[in-house]
Amino acid sequence: MAVFVVLLGGPGAGKGTQAKLLVDELGIPQVSTGDLFRQHLQADTDLGRLARTYMERGELVPDRVTIEMVRERFAQSDCASGALLDGFPRTIAQAEGLEIMLAAIGQRVAVVPFIRVSPAVLLERLSGRWTCRQCSSMYHVLHNPPLAPGVCDRCAGELYQRTDDSPETAKRRIDVYWEQTAPLVEWYRGKGQLAEIDGEQPIEAVSRAMLSAVCAAISRGER
Ligand code: ADP
Ligand code: ADP
Ligand code: ZN
Repeated sequence: MAVFVVLLGGPGAGKGTQAKLLVDELGIPQVSTGDLFRQHLQADTDLGRLARTYMERGELVPDRVTIEMVRERFAQSDCASGALLDGFPRTIAQAEGLEIMLAAIGQRVAVVPFIRVSPAVLLERLSGRWTCRQCSSMYHVLHNPPLAPGVCDRCAGELYQRTDDSPETAKRRIDVYWEQTAPLVEWYRGKGQLAEIDGEQPIEAVSRAMLSAVCAAISRGER
């Protein structure tokens, strides 16, 4: 049985961090639209050049191209087991696009863990975030430092600070989140798919809460 999980939360809430931990526990791949866009940027594809203009400003890439990119990702064989969606959907239109895509393969979203974090904490997390160039693992200077400064614990890749984590762009991204993504919380709650998680707990406590929400949803689905 395939399992599709949508991780919801503001920029810096901990979606990527939790996705990386849950991938091992659940055996389904992380699908991060931010990572996919950054790969396109690096490879200098047409999509990458288009996405860059939005990402640099902290705005959302248009729904149509974002949905199409996810559709292509789902066609890869590892998504036969499902996916942990990190950073998608970010608008109601994308959520509707996802429903249509999943219905076409006889699937639906199992659960939507919503990692709740206050705006001030989001900003503090983004400003201290270091990301691995190679495997996109996330670290934080204070809350989750790497064993050796500047080096990824998982793959020994180089750590860098994303340009869109600068204070101005990070603020814009948080505003965009409130305008365009936060309405998804009530949208998924209305469908009975939301699982609220206190995202201001330590990383391990958030992981435990997430895992129990996902496992509960899987066993509901199997009944
Ligand atoms: P974070 O993890 O900090 O929230 P992401 O890596 O998910 O940031 O996203 C970085 C940028 O990539 C966003 O600011 C946006 O420009 C673009 N992006 C990522 N996912 C989407 C999406 N689902 N729809 C539109 N734009 C997106
Ligand atoms: P998102 O993918 O939602 O944008 P990340 O997973 O990249 O968020 O996390 C943002 C930053 O906050 C990273 O520096 C990460 O190490 C840190 N972080 C993640 N979860 C927690 C937590 N529960 N407590 C403290 N810091 C955290
Ligand atoms: Zn790494």
